[in-house]
Amino acid sequence: MSQNERTFIAVKPDGVQRGLVPEILSRFWNKGYKLVAIKLTLANEDLLREHYADLTSKPFFPSLLSYMLSGPVLATVWEGKDVVKQGRVLLGATNPLASAPGTIRGDFAVDMGRNIIHGSDSVESAEKEIGLWFKKEELVDYKPTLTSWIYE
Ligand code: UDP
Ligand code: MG
Repeated sequence: MSQNERTFIAVKPDGVQRGLVPEILSRFWNKGYKLVAIKLTLANEDLLREHYADLTSKPFFPSLLSYMLSGPVLATVWEGKDVVKQGRVLLGATNPLASAPGTIRGDFAVDMGRNIIHGSDSVESAEKEIGLWFKKEELVDYKPTLTSWIYE
């Protein structure tokens, strides 16, 4: 299993406004994942239509758009073994009421339309989303000094 797998994780506008950025970053760092890119940014409709391409015909899409445009988003990329799947485990279920305590959505959210965080659902969508939200030169290449304490 590759230590170089990458996922796209975004703190949504409600998570940013509620001051949950440090808590959310800590969950990924504490697990042992490597931060590869990070920026606070405003989305735009074109970007979101590509990001959520499979959802544009859903009835909730207009409210999802206005939610995601309601303030800055913290876009991040994390790297490590099984990070796509494990990232989804850290997030919890799409519906926060179905998310176990201990997960990010389970601990900090109630409504589906205010579920504070996005995470890629597959390696393929991670690659697509990283390419949409970041330029190549924004992905930082370095070796964390703790690597040998996290990987055997
Ligand atoms: N969403 C919603 N109502 C729904 C389903 C989804 O408001 O019935 C929102 C929710 O914020 C979710 C996002 O649309 O996070 C994207 O939906 P997806 O099914 O991809 O869930 P996710 O991958 O974020 O868990
Ligand atoms: Mg999704």
